[in-house]
Amino acid sequence: MNEPLFLKAVLQEKIWGGTKLHDVFNYDLPSDRVGECWSISAHPNGPSTVLNGPYEGMTLAEVWKEHRDVFGNVKGDVFPLLTKILDANDDLSVQVHPNDTYGLEHEGELGKTECWYVIDADEGAEIVYGHHAKTKEELESMIKEGKWTELLRRIKVKKGDFFFVPSGTIHAIGAGIMILETQQSSDTTYRVYDYNRKDDTGNPRELHIQQSVDVTTVPHVDAETGITTTQLENVEITTYVKTDFFNVYQWSITGNAVFEASAPYTLVTVLEGEGTLLVESGEYPLTKGTNFILPNDIKNWTIKGSLQIIASTPGTEM
Ligand code: ZN
Repeated sequence: MNEPLFLKAVLQEKIWGGTKLHDVFNYDLPSDRVGECWSISAHPNGPSTVLNGPYEGMTLAEVWKEHRDVFGNVKGDVFPLLTKILDANDDLSVQVHPNDTYGLEHEGELGKTECWYVIDADEGAEIVYGHHAKTKEELESMIKEGKWTELLRRIKVKKGDFFFVPSGTIHAIGAGIMILETQQSSDTTYRVYDYNRKDDTGNPRELHIQQSVDVTTVPHVDAETGITTTQLENVEITTYVKTDFFNVYQWSITGNAVFEASAPYTLVTVLEGEGTLLVESGEYPLTKGTNFILPNDIKNWTIKGSLQIIASTPGTEM
């Protein structure tokens, strides 16, 4: 026992996807339009499978349901977090997600607060983050009249940037950006604008104007993150956000770094480098694109090597 749960990622084709999930992370892709890698997921639309140990072959959702002790016997019907890597070869639709109350009432699933770590971005690449409408009426009329240039707030991004995207924030990832997304385990998206694109069958993708107007925060408020950095022996820990839903960290490791658990369980994705995870039960190689969960009974671990890692833990509400 006391083994980390290594997870097999699920690759998802998208009309805006590309090949970087292979080129950069070496994942096997089913086509050259893969947009999302669901790295750590218990969501039915793309469940991760355990690759090792006593739960080998089970989905993360099954382990959550049948072996809650792995997660410190915390409560909750669904595993609360979802980690994805996105390759936006083209612009993603402009969208917004509901909060938990609206999501449960209208879609039967939780809302979605998410956050993004920019893994890489082309020169001049932009995201949509927020809007310029002052009232709901103004938001609705600008959407209906298609005044996208005036309505949408665009921000240039670069590698290493971090954005917190609470439910109710209008957002879109632009072409040429790769991000790691940590989010609530939900797949409810209200599409505001899709650049008038057609899907594989030649039809425009569905929009959800009324729901979008309902759930969008007006006026837009920039979410506070309060990023902090702590230097420990052989590791720099950046804390990006601490929220009700999740806490997200970066571990920049050079050498032998010793960690102590700060939560019932920890989700880990290796973004760069090579190294080894050392726990009581043994040693495990780590490489770019490796995803695992440190379960409740691993209270201490060592990671050695030269690695960039994004880690997350459940928030205070979960
Ligand atoms: Zn989103």
